[in-house]
Amino acid sequence: MLDVILLWLRRNYECFSVEPFSTYNFYELSHIDEKLMPVEFSTFKLSELAHLKKVILRYKSKDVEAIARFLRDTIEELVTIEIDEQCPRCESHGMRIFVGKQNGLLAFQCNVCGHAHYSDGSKVEVGGLDFVREVRLRELGLI
Ligand SMILES: [Zn+2]
Repeated sequence: MLDVILLWLRRNYECFSVEPFSTYNFYELSHIDEKLMPVEFSTFKLSELAHLKKVILRYKSKDVEAIARFLRDTIEELVTIEIDEQCPRCESHGMRIFVGKQNGLLAFQCNVCGHAHYSDGSKVEVGGLDFVREVRLRELGLI
């Protein structure tokens, strides 16, 4: 599933290297090493693939922004795991685990409002997060 999406992104890279895709970090997304990611632990279900196709077809070219956001969210969902932690801002349950590019600390991002904080409680800077590899999650006992 992830391989299919990534292959498609890489083959059509010229379509994704422009706005609005560039704002959603499609450059980084297309360089994910799918073999290192905890895809099998993702909450994404294969049945959502049909939904994904439908959404993309429905938007067509009239709302590229929405397609970009939806695709980015789908890839994020595929390569991250979710834990049942409560968001301190909107109080909904379910946060995704990322890692800080600079400090290497784990970070938790809310599924609903997007609020993110590091494991030591500090604030996450814009663009500061990377996906956590499967091997690291194993070492930490999270999967
Ligand atoms: Zn939240």
